[in-house]
Amino acid sequence: MNNEQTDWQPESELLAWAKQHFESIPVNGVWSPDSTGVQYMKTDEKTWLLMSMYEHPESKDYHNKMIVLMNAVGYEIATPDGFETITPPLDPSHQAEMHYQQKQELAMQWKCDCGEPLSNFDLENRTDEYVETIEGQLDNGQSTPLQLWRCHITCPTCEADIPMEPDDYHVLAGDGLFMQFTNMTARYTALTRMQNKDLAESGMFVGKPLNDKGSMFCVLGETYEGERVPPWLWGCLVVRTHLPSEENE
Ligand SMILES: [Zn+2]
Repeated sequence: MNNEQTDWQPESELLAWAKQHFESIPVNGVWSPDSTGVQYMKTDEKTWLLMSMYEHPESKDYHNKMIVLMNAVGYEIATPDGFETITPPLDPSHQAEMHYQQKQELAMQWKCDCGEPLSNFDLENRTDEYVETIEGQLDNGQSTPLQLWRCHITCPTCEADIPMEPDDYHVLAGDGLFMQFTNMTARYTALTRMQNKDLAESGMFVGKPLNDKGSMFCVLGETYEGERVPPWLWGCLVVRTHLPSEENE
């Protein structure tokens, strides 16, 4: 079974989740469920397009189930003409890289309704909108509050406002722009660990002891108080706690 079709039927909880999740993704939003080897784009309020699929039995099985699930909550899945599956690399780390590159290539093709590629937008000038807080499911079955946000960018040609899933904006604009937040008065730019390291080296971070035991927060440079720091900790914000005094003296 499961070569072309599936007997699988979704449970009511999954249906409720799917309905909410699919609605929450804006048109032109891309959905890549983890570890499935398939990727879909919401092309209008009622249709998802299969964008890519690995040549893997589980991907096909997943896709067949997805057809059942999407149909059950009122969506069609379309497959482009001449669709070809992708052979996944054997090395899982290459797979993650390939997945990201593939997403980036796809992002380069995203377009406004007027035809302007999203990659031509002024991506630095985005606004972030808080949508709502939902109950998210953790892997252990417990739930946790999860904030949903959207990133808005404006078409330079037709001035349309394009709402995006933050993950999609991240792929389109890259880390540097994603890790910025702009409000009415200021822009906040996250520093990379290497930038933190350089600032620490130039003495920008001077910590104050938190308590009489001498604990304090500090950012580690290449060296700290004249001693070498292992490179995997450069630029990290750390808490410094003194060792027990007998070992210290
Ligand atoms: Zn436009």
